[in-house]
Amino acid sequence: MAATFTKIICKFVIQILMSMIVFEEAYRLTVDAARPMGTEQISMNDAVGRVLAKSIVSDINMPPFDKTAVDGYACKRANLNNTLEVIEIIPAGFAPKHVVGVNQCAKIMTGAKMPEGADCVIMVEDTEDVDEKHIRFAKEKTANNICLLAEDVKEGTTILEAGNKIRPQDIAMMASVGHTTPTVFKKPRVAIISTGNELVEPDVKPGDSKIRNSNAYQLLAQTRRAGAQEEYLGIALDDKESLKSYIDKGINNYDVTILTGGVSMGDFDFVPIILKEAGIELLFKSIAVQPGKPTVFGKSSDGKYVFGLPGNPVSSFVQFELIVKPFLHHLMGNEYKPLQFNLPLAKDYSRKKFSRDKWEPANITADGKIELSSYHGSAHIHALSHSDVLIKIPRGVEKLKAGALVHVRQI
Ligand code: AMP
Ligand code: MG
Repeated sequence: MAATFTKIICKFVIQILMSMIVFEEAYRLTVDAARPMGTEQISMNDAVGRVLAKSIVSDINMPPFDKTAVDGYACKRANLNNTLEVIEIIPAGFAPKHVVGVNQCAKIMTGAKMPEGADCVIMVEDTEDVDEKHIRFAKEKTANNICLLAEDVKEGTTILEAGNKIRPQDIAMMASVGHTTPTVFKKPRVAIISTGNELVEPDVKPGDSKIRNSNAYQLLAQTRRAGAQEEYLGIALDDKESLKSYIDKGINNYDVTILTGGVSMGDFDFVPIILKEAGIELLFKSIAVQPGKPTVFGKSSDGKYVFGLPGNPVSSFVQFELIVKPFLHHLMGNEYKPLQFNLPLAKDYSRKKFSRDKWEPANITADGKIELSSYHGSAHIHALSHSDVLIKIPRGVEKLKAGALVHVRQI
């Protein structure tokens, strides 16, 4: 009897292990499935955070002429030791009228075009007046202080590559080459669905056995921060009919549907079954990552995508950051590259189970060390809200000494 029982348990454990895949495999399955969205042309004023779909080429040299980098006097380097006659004043935006001759200079303002005959600019603060018409260099040495024609960008150069996320400094480049309507990838439209009979919306004080729905709002914010177009569909109940109607609404009307809750081993965790019934091919149901093992990903034959994230808020958050966010970026034609670095642990670290990658909320101390947050597990959303980073403890690693380098990711 006991032997049969052990056998059943072993079979069950093996089944679970077989369906659980490592993170790298899950990641690959999602990005391989991602087909980039179509493109649209928008104003550069709306472009921050969007992904460029067509590279941008400069129509001009930058700078377009030799210009002074400082306020000062343009002269010949060979005459630096001599008293110099000031022959004109050149404001920015106006062409010089005269050629600078021997022992002459032109007073010139930052950004103005260099006059012919001059090969350096002495800074105003490095000169002294001799009389109303003459000045003298009062230092030993000076740089040329000239920004040369085309030294930053040559006409015809690609200044922004397709596939990059547009940042404010990229918009400055668009403005300077006159490319004011960039072509970008469309934003995926993402539907968010919460599941659970225990959930009430945040504006309601929860009654007995109820809790507030925090995941939907966290996911809406994460989706928006990832650059996609978010929409909230509501709370599906833990029954097949309710789930089916919400899932149908998601997959019929949106590019990506994200559900939270209902994906683990409980009697009422129907999400994977209903997804299958709705014609979704499930590419995985479980990832060897803590928190968030029961994460589900699938796609329909007509190019719609579904994620089922665990209900625990930290699991949902972490799986979005690790898997959903890079996937959304790939839909927008961008290979997601989070800013990642290694930092030393402030204290020794150990864990009991170490078969999965583990992500822990943490902060960076003033002297650049990792201090783990006080964290009670995947329901402890307060710990996340007090943390600036997640750190990764790779599968197989049980203990780490203070000072060991760990992989850090900003959240
Ligand atoms: P589940 O994955 O549905 O078994 O849920 C796991 C845990 O997360 C349970 O304690 C749920 O009450 C909780 N939970 C599920 N959905 C949400 C949600 N939308 N907001 C906050 N907590 C949730
Ligand atoms: Mg549930």
